[in-house]
Amino acid sequence: MSLDTGLDAHADPHADPHAEGLGLPEGQDGPADGPTFDSLDPATGDVVGTHPVDDAAAVDAAVARARQSAGWWAALGFDGRKEVLAQWRGVLTRRIGQLAAVVHAETGKPHADAALEIGLAIDHLAWVGAHAEKVLGRKRVSPGLLLSNQTASVEYLPLGVVGVIGPWNYPVFTPMGSIAYALAAGNAVVFKPSELTPGVGRWLADSLREVVGDRALLQVVTGFGETGAALCRADIDKLAFTGSTATGKRVMATCAERLTPVVIEAGGKDALLVDADADVTAAADAAAWGAFSNAGQTCIGVERVYVHEQVYDRFLAELSDRARAVHAGNDPAAKLGPMTMASQVDVVRSHVSDALQRGGRAVVGGEDTVGERFVQPTVLVDVPEDSLAVTEETFGPTVTVRKVRDMDEAVALTNAGKYGLGSTVFSAKRGPEIARRLRTGMTAVNSVISFAAVPGLPFGGVGDSGFGRIHGPDGLKEFTYAKAVTRQRFKPVLNLTTFDRTPEQDTTFATLLTALHGRASQLPKRPRKPLRTRKD
Ligand code: NDP
Repeated sequence: MSLDTGLDAHADPHADPHAEGLGLPEGQDGPADGPTFDSLDPATGDVVGTHPVDDAAAVDAAVARARQSAGWWAALGFDGRKEVLAQWRGVLTRRIGQLAAVVHAETGKPHADAALEIGLAIDHLAWVGAHAEKVLGRKRVSPGLLLSNQTASVEYLPLGVVGVIGPWNYPVFTPMGSIAYALAAGNAVVFKPSELTPGVGRWLADSLREVVGDRALLQVVTGFGETGAALCRADIDKLAFTGSTATGKRVMATCAERLTPVVIEAGGKDALLVDADADVTAAADAAAWGAFSNAGQTCIGVERVYVHEQVYDRFLAELSDRARAVHAGNDPAAKLGPMTMASQVDVVRSHVSDALQRGGRAVVGGEDTVGERFVQPTVLVDVPEDSLAVTEETFGPTVTVRKVRDMDEAVALTNAGKYGLGSTVFSAKRGPEIARRLRTGMTAVNSVISFAAVPGLPFGGVGDSGFGRIHGPDGLKEFTYAKAVTRQRFKPVLNLTTFDRTPEQDTTFATLLTALHGRASQLPKRPRKPLRTRKD
């Protein structure tokens, strides 16, 4: 298959990973004439790169360029897009070390964790290429008896230009959950990375440009909140946001000015539940990873744990051992990096202080281990359920652990929160049943965070965690509109959509309708017993 993509198969794999290193065409993400800002290494404060503060005019220009390329991209069809995305996947895979270095430099997370994040994003990219046609392509639909003279079909067409506003905590995996799916569905994308990780966003756009040449398929605009707001106000067809609930509300309000639809992937306060029959060691291992990895800066990270009283002591001891075995730092042995956003340290400190002032205890860590840039793992117990450490997203390597009578209490406490993103259940026998009762968009049973790595599963939450879905078939459809078409095959015996309809035809229609649906609504002769639920 031959594609006019402008692919440079011999691009230099050792090119400078930062801002202007990959030979950009004029007018796209190039060096700025206007104001700029620096991205910093959060562990050292060193300048990692310098990027333009794009104003509304620059954002509008990027969106206009995207619109020009969107038609070409949509017209490539599923096979053509699959080929381009496969080529991009190849570039990302071969240069995973280079991209991981940029992620490490801008977020501080360990290099291996950065590579893991990128690897999962690559796997999602493969999935969308392979599944877009099956999910979105034209399908015949039964027209039903009344319209049996018609054929009916539905397909999911690209919206045009999608804006993506991404966070800093997983600066590849998270925005790619929108970018890859929007592209595979046939849209062009304009991406505003977090001000903390602009170099990662730029690297991603540059790497796709190596495949598609000067087509403005994925462009990056950089800057602060105002640049994001300008993207919301621009001539885009949908906006996918990941970040805090508070900013999500602002994004939604701004998008409402143009009735631009939004996907909101907001925060979480995910719980892990441990049943009496659970594998306690595995549960403690999962809780430690879920709470502390990425220095706790994970929207689906474990922030609170509810443990059956029969296994509470053993679980707490095992979790505490694991918490003591890892540390945050800049040394090679450190499994946790710094807090990527400096101001987050104050948030973490305020949650820990509030918990301790209100009767909680730090079994591991505590206030003293919240440093200037690094926060050590902290395990809190006896924390009241209405304290900040239980109700608000902490986004640091801290976790609360509470003893519960049974899983009913654990489910009730989990569902009492305003967030509903992810959750985890450890139970030998009742995992799926407990999972179903949790009001969260996703649940992992006997493992942690696994749902995010399954490309075929939708990712998203309820309540203050937002709405809409990325990943999976739902994630592909999120960036399309459903197009329904009927085609008349032959003239109907009973034409219902004409002013020439006769009273006889109305009677025939009524008779037909009664035959089709009349019995469905018959009332029972005796009052029915109340319906029993499965729980009864
Ligand atoms: P924000 O929600 O403020 O920012 C997320 C993204 O939105 C960034 O790209 C940001 O740009 C952009 N943005 C900010 N203001 C606007 C606006 N008015 N219109 C459009 N876009 C805007 O997250 P923060 O980075 O400030 O982190 C704050 C808190 O959010 C954290 O403490 C954490 O609790 C939560 N968070 C949750 C994440 C999740 O995955 N659920 C991810 C990241 C944070 P810029 O960075 O330039 O300000």
